[in-house]
Amino acid sequence: MQHILDKALRQGRSVTGLGEVASYIPELSKADKNHVGVCVMDSVGGCFEAGDVEERFTIQSISKVVSLAVALELYGMEAVFGQIGMEPSGDAFNSIVKLAGDASRPYNPMVNSGAIAVASFIAPELTFDEMLERTREMCGDPDIVLNEAVYHSEMATTSRNRAISYLLESKGVLRCGVDEALELYIKMCSLNVTARSLAYLGLLLANGGIRLQDGKQLLQPETVRVVKSIMHTCGMYDGSGEFAVRVGVPTKSGVGGGLLSVVNKRMGIGIFGPSLDKKGNSIAGEKILQFLSAQMKLHVFD
Ligand code: GLU
Repeated sequence: MQHILDKALRQGRSVTGLGEVASYIPELSKADKNHVGVCVMDSVGGCFEAGDVEERFTIQSISKVVSLAVALELYGMEAVFGQIGMEPSGDAFNSIVKLAGDASRPYNPMVNSGAIAVASFIAPELTFDEMLERTREMCGDPDIVLNEAVYHSEMATTSRNRAISYLLESKGVLRCGVDEALELYIKMCSLNVTARSLAYLGLLLANGGIRLQDGKQLLQPETVRVVKSIMHTCGMYDGSGEFAVRVGVPTKSGVGGGLLSVVNKRMGIGIFGPSLDKKGNSIAGEKILQFLSAQMKLHVFD
């Protein structure tokens, strides 16, 4: 395994020059695009790492997985999906097009509109500190904190998400005020994680919501099944279909360069690589997952 991972890392590193770090959130442009790290945790307690696995970066859209899981635990599937769709949108993560048209609700919880709606479900029930605690627990990482610089940088430049939030409010989708929903959404996006924390979360999902270390059920099996399905169909922005065909491992990406992958019943994979392709996915991360999937037969239909 370590040998395969080292090889995968080399492949990942070879393509970092082909992408760019995100810059629409100004603070993110400070990332070093040469960073690449990958961590695999398997269901028999193995942990394998290569590259920059201790580097902290903001979780960004991967927090949509955490928030969806929490909303499902709080309200159940019917209530959540009564307000938010389950279909891949085929549009960019921050698209406003369908919502500005006649769509009555967000396409799915992995695009910004859906995740802001999810945040509005959570905000009346849980504080940000409680969400932070849950994230730490699900990632097995007590050192996760809010990256204040990234949070303020996004807050100052988030006109588009604000526009999305007002559209959601106008369609009666929000369960709290625009400011409250947006604050929780962006704070969740601004949590500092590592490739290792994401691998831990991946393994928790692979393991049906049961924490491997002590057998504690942290998430209900139903929640985890829904979350993995949505990651598989909608987790890679408007590249989700192609990724599902080529790699076939349920994955969620974030513009901070993170990738969270779940190989059902077998392993969790966390990757960091801030150089992004045009769709906003980690370019090294995709290469690494393609390699690992082929080498270890990880495709969901292998
Ligand atoms: N906080 C980011 C935004 O709303 C998350 C985007 C992402 O990672 O896809 O634009």
